[in-house]
Amino acid sequence: MTEQHKPVAVALLSGGLDSTLAAKVILEQGITVIGINFAGAYCPRPLAGKSRAEKAAEKLGIELVTLPIDAEFIAMVKNPRHGRGRNMNPCIDCHTLMIRKAWAWGQTEPESKTQNPKPKSQRDEPPMHCRTGASAANTDNRADVSEKTICVHQCPSVVSWYDRADFVITGEVLGQRPMSQNRNALNTVASWSGVGERLLRPMSAKLLNPTAPEQEGLVDRERLLNIEGRQRNRQMALAEKYGIKDYPSPAGGCLLTEKVYSKRLAEAFDHGEDSLEIVELLSLGRHFRLPSGARLVVGRDERENDELLRRKPAGAVVIDAGDLPGPVGILAKGSRDQGIEGSSDEALAARICARFSDKRKEKLARVVIAGEAVDVEPASEEESARLLIA
Ligand code: SF4
Repeated sequence: MTEQHKPVAVALLSGGLDSTLAAKVILEQGITVIGINFAGAYCPRPLAGKSRAEKAAEKLGIELVTLPIDAEFIAMVKNPRHGRGRNMNPCIDCHTLMIRKAWAWGQTEPESKTQNPKPKSQRDEPPMHCRTGASAANTDNRADVSEKTICVHQCPSVVSWYDRADFVITGEVLGQRPMSQNRNALNTVASWSGVGERLLRPMSAKLLNPTAPEQEGLVDRERLLNIEGRQRNRQMALAEKYGIKDYPSPAGGCLLTEKVYSKRLAEAFDHGEDSLEIVELLSLGRHFRLPSGARLVVGRDERENDELLRRKPAGAVVIDAGDLPGPVGILAKGSRDQGIEGSSDEALAARICARFSDKRKEKLARVVIAGEAVDVEPASEEESARLLIA
């Protein structure tokens, strides 16, 4: 390590206890840690409030970068090389891709890391204390400030000043998940991601071969951990030690591990629907497959209604209750169809929407299809149940 360079790690940060502790263990060695989180599609942000990763980054006092779950992720989920877990979750391939993308982000030029990079001449200077090797008591030597300067205080405002990353860390624990975190799987992820020896798993590092940052002296192997297996006692003791409270349960966050979402996604793939805009709809509302192959999504509450309108795919028809309270329906064509079958699809979709409104018991209910009000007979329970995907 040169005087000019403080090591930088990019950390996959889901916000769960393992990834939070892994980041903490590395931070404790005085290494700059930048959290990387993936959001979108099957890892949606909460409709309100902060995400698990945002809360964890706040607790750790580190920068968090959110990268999108993009079309490459969807293609990977559709055709994983290394199989799936209990549901649609292809954890080995997914870890591989996340680690590859986190490393790629870490290798971009420092000034490209901000969302709105400014030319160097127009950038704000980093805060006074943000300089290599500076300490809180030594903050007046401005000559040290340079392009490669890193904030020793982890200033959240200076991500563009971080150096390139030296290595990636994850919260993986050897043997915690029989399929995706056994020794072979960990090796597969390291090699398929292309990160190889630059991938460090602080939670189990002492049980694994030394990685490049350990061999180069950037990380003290002795201060890493040797946790193995499914028991979480040691993690809980560490959380206590570090004052990490209110951490989420190990499950959660990823919809691919959920039965209902997985059923919807598998059904969508079976119907040739694999676009990001359709996959992003699957976490919302009730989903119906109409006889023509078209998809109808019906919101279950006001928040979902708003979100459905925001995520409406191009060309989809909106059905709602006009000025009255009621569900929003999004009628989207299925990939294998010629399109929405005009009035017959719209009429059926309107009847299903009416079934989930306050007027479900009335003979006729008023709904608005693409801005035009019509009176329809609400669908029966049997009829809507027959078309329900999940
Ligand atoms: S649980 Fe979900 S997000 Fe996590 S590795 Fe598995 S598939 Fe990816």
